[in-house]
Amino acid sequence: TIKIDNLRKEFDVPGGIEVAVDGVSLDIGDGEFVTLVGPSGCGKTTTLRCIAGLETPTSGQITHEGEDLTYIPANKRNMAMMFQNIALYPHMTIVDNIAYPLKVIGVPKSERHEEAREAAEIMQIGELLDKYPGELSGGQRQRAALARTLVQDPVAFLMDEPLSDLDAKLKVEIRKEIQKVHKRLEKSTVYVTHDQEEAMTMSDRIAVMNDGQIEQVGTRDELYNYPVNTFVASFIGNPS
Ligand code: ATP
Repeated sequence: TIKIDNLRKEFDVPGGIEVAVDGVSLDIGDGEFVTLVGPSGCGKTTTLRCIAGLETPTSGQITHEGEDLTYIPANKRNMAMMFQNIALYPHMTIVDNIAYPLKVIGVPKSERHEEAREAAEIMQIGELLDKYPGELSGGQRQRAALARTLVQDPVAFLMDEPLSDLDAKLKVEIRKEIQKVHKRLEKSTVYVTHDQEEAMTMSDRIAVMNDGQIEQVGTRDELYNYPVNTFVASFIGNPS
């Protein structure tokens, strides 16, 4: 379980501070898929970057199985990330990209290529191993990024709008692949989107954020049937 306890993140901006995350607490259980939704600027990405270790919280705590991760650097957390801006390495072949997490921990080349090949087969890109990322379609690149996640065997799987650059048909396909990876890993998955439909179809629980805070966390039925306020109701699409 990943526990986020009273997370706060301020940024210095000209003329003062911007409070991006303002007291967020949330637990993400093992095997649970939790989605952060909310309008642009509500603090979703900043929350996720704090979990990843890409931002240092101003205050609050993040733990995994009781271990304090708050000030552990990103590269020591073993979290798999699929962010808009963290892509494949363009100068490496697909097999080397997928195998990279194993190279970092010193697994010999033949062994790591074998594991990468297996993960690529699961993601149905087994025939693309010798190509470079620039030679792949957007959907194939996402499959390669998912295969890399399988190989990494991370403690958590963090995604920020991974489908935003894909067309409608590919979105549906890659959504299914993301869920396949989540199920195989059986770890905590935290997913960020501003797309309600995506959140409603993929998640075990959804956290609706507004202005740096979580308004409500619950299953899709809980949010839909028992929204705590009009913001949640209108965001979830049940304003009655
Ligand atoms: P979007 O859906 O548009 O990506 P978001 O919900 O992910 O939005 P964040 O990116 O977390 O929101 O931003 C929350 C607030 O913090 C915004 O007002 C944003 O302008 C501000 N912010 C984020 N990063 C920085 C930064 N590096 N410096 C200053 N302000 C920042």
